[in-house]
Amino acid sequence: MRVATLGFKHETNTFQSVKTDYDAFVNFDFLRGSQIAERHANTNSTLNGFLKGAAKYEFELVPLLLTITGPTGTVTKDAFDRITAEMTQMLKDNGPWDGVLLAQHGGAVSEEFPDMDGEIARLVKQAVGQNTPVAMTFDLHSNITQQQIANTEAIVVYRTNPHIDQVERGLEASEILARTIRGEINPVQHLVQVPMIVNITRQPTAVGAMKSIMDDVAQVVGTPGVLSASCGQGFPYADVEQMGVSFLVVTDGDADLAKEQSNWLARRAWDHRSEMLNDSTPVDEAIRQAANADDSGKPTVILDVGDNVGGGGTADSTHLLAELIRQEVKGERSLLMTLFDPAAVRESIAAGSGATVNLKVGAKTDELHGEPIAVTGKVRAITDGRFEETGQIHGGWRYFDYGPSVALDTEDGYTIVLHTERGVGNMSRQQHYSMGIFPEQYRIVICKGTVSPRPAYEPIAGAMIVADTPGVTSADMSSFNYKHRRKPLYPFELDTTFH
Ligand SMILES: [Zn+2]
Repeated sequence: MRVATLGFKHETNTFQSVKTDYDAFVNFDFLRGSQIAERHANTNSTLNGFLKGAAKYEFELVPLLLTITGPTGTVTKDAFDRITAEMTQMLKDNGPWDGVLLAQHGGAVSEEFPDMDGEIARLVKQAVGQNTPVAMTFDLHSNITQQQIANTEAIVVYRTNPHIDQVERGLEASEILARTIRGEINPVQHLVQVPMIVNITRQPTAVGAMKSIMDDVAQVVGTPGVLSASCGQGFPYADVEQMGVSFLVVTDGDADLAKEQSNWLARRAWDHRSEMLNDSTPVDEAIRQAANADDSGKPTVILDVGDNVGGGGTADSTHLLAELIRQEVKGERSLLMTLFDPAAVRESIAAGSGATVNLKVGAKTDELHGEPIAVTGKVRAITDGRFEETGQIHGGWRYFDYGPSVALDTEDGYTIVLHTERGVGNMSRQQHYSMGIFPEQYRIVICKGTVSPRPAYEPIAGAMIVADTPGVTSADMSSFNYKHRRKPLYPFELDTTFH
């Protein structure tokens, strides 16, 4: 039994000005053939779930192509055409196949296809033949569509946010696919799209309404005849018609049961809609709270929601830094934060380790993320920006590369880490340890993210403050000019109804 695996993953923030081209994938992570297993064995990724699934459910897994880049703007037509052409050619050249495991994100938008994941599923199905089963995994931030389910036998979505269950979901998809190929089961899917969104600040699945929704999903998963059940939280920064919350239930041949259970989940989630609104602290208040936090000896971690790099943030917002300076919060090790700023890195490296530099840092990508801030500081460390995280963190990442990087100790007692690549935000404390910096020793640590930094930073934080910063991933959804989203959609239209 031969199963191909491929993935062309992207979470598209259509409000980002910079488009995502072919080179963005090549430069970030583009693996072919044996590179895939070499890179993903012993990680917490979906691909490792497929590798384990192949051993457990006894099939030969043939990795073909896997590419991803950080959440950025709309994928160019050129990137889509070139990568999908290579994927389908590989499927044709190396077939025939008994099945396909696709590792997708579910939140991808290309210039040509608002439902990029649906189009990929359609092309893959066309390449391997309509009777060859395809199982697809999605991130929880997926906008699920009829086209996606029409071209797959089963979609399995992560059930945790922060995402820490990729291996389990990869195993689940592997089991459904293997049993389908063997003729033991006949998966049937039903999708219900709910006219609502979940604010980014309400997305953690361990608390509040999302916990209750995921408890419902777990209950459906345990129902006899159900093979899988999922909630797509939706990716609200993709301005597409299918953006929003959805529920998907996969049963063994029972269309009525799939429909009944997905409708039940949707109805229950709808009843929680008013608990899904923006829950964050204004910037000035966030800094005041952090400055006055109890001296527990643990840092106060401020989550920079508007510059959520894992959602398409530019990684160079200075709104919180500017407010810290305005409120004159200073003193030894008073702040630790990161900024994407290649020019400042170059200047610092030219000055050399130990040199004192005067720089304007951050806010160089666009107008949304504050102004460059003038700082005077000592170049404390220069590294290649690479590090490895072996612990369980959001997204199952292990290898990181932020490009040449510099740590700067400023006169005000701030440590600002400057990177030449945007990276994926602040998901791993190794980002700082690898430069000889210990976040535990700071009063305030700013993390660019909303949910993704939590597994790394909650264990060391005295308090976490979710700051309502402006930016391309703002929690204030009224700050975005949507052109393509469904109407009505709660809470944009507060009188939205759902039966
Ligand atoms: Zn996600």
